[in-house]
Amino acid sequence: MIQQIQKEIEQVKQKLDVAIMAHSYQGHEILEVADAVGDSFQLSKQAQACGQSRILLCGVHFMAETAKLLSPEKQVYLAHPGAVCPMAEQFTPEQILAEKEKYPGCKVVAYINTTAALKAVSDVCVTSSSAEQIVRNIDAEDILFIPDCNLGSYVQSRVPEKRIHLLSGGCPVHASVEPEDLAAARVLHPGVEILVHPECRKEVTAAADFAGATSAIMAYAKQSDKDAFIIGTEISITEHLQYACPDKQFYDLSKKLICPDMKLTTLMDVLHTLRQIAGDTAQEILIPPEIQSAARHSIEEMLRLGN
Ligand code: SF4
Repeated sequence: MIQQIQKEIEQVKQKLDVAIMAHSYQGHEILEVADAVGDSFQLSKQAQACGQSRILLCGVHFMAETAKLLSPEKQVYLAHPGAVCPMAEQFTPEQILAEKEKYPGCKVVAYINTTAALKAVSDVCVTSSSAEQIVRNIDAEDILFIPDCNLGSYVQSRVPEKRIHLLSGGCPVHASVEPEDLAAARVLHPGVEILVHPECRKEVTAAADFAGATSAIMAYAKQSDKDAFIIGTEISITEHLQYACPDKQFYDLSKKLICPDMKLTTLMDVLHTLRQIAGDTAQEILIPPEIQSAARHSIEEMLRLGN
């Protein structure tokens, strides 16, 4: 049955000139029909570079927005319209502008996991892998880092020469992991390294053997000569690593690491959306022009300062 659906998806997407971009937290059956798999920024870059005129994003809403920002001439769709990252929506642009007033001369650094409206009131975007370098390079002593206080606190530990001001936002999925989960995992799997995402709390990243973005965690586990790892990011990464490295063993750090919004999209949603695109009833991702240009500027600054 799954293979039948996948076959139809392959046929329809080619006919409609659609590229399917799947975030790496999506299920394996969706990754199998994707033209590209990666984190939100990697997907936006792939969407920009691909030859197709339409993009179907399997992930959450801010990712489709980011793809649209980089490819305004393409038609961008989200496979499940209800899939929204709670962290990306935690603050309003008005709240950020009011907070910025407290620190004269400060620059607003926005994690890419934010809405286009928040990117538009920020000076620069960052990914979890580029945040440290960009904060180091930015021309300001005071930085308002939004929305994730855990990633911001991790960056502060790596760039002590800057004053990073944080708000109480963050990813509820990664923030659910507690130091006790690491202690329990070490008892269960003695001697096995624990790899965590910097969206986890600082007590958790401090107690782990390695902290890095999802792509860095995957690269570390693949390249290491060790044969077992405990994975402290969204649970689907454990499964994807197990497929990629069948001779190694991967364990979940915590069963709490399931993102309900990332899990909303099913293979049938992908097919339904393709059918809606064919029938001209799919809901396209649109960004008001005034937000589009300011938000795109923050992404361009990320590319400039990240080099
Ligand atoms: S894992 Fe966290 S940051 Fe990623 S989409 Fe889910 S809630 Fe948002």
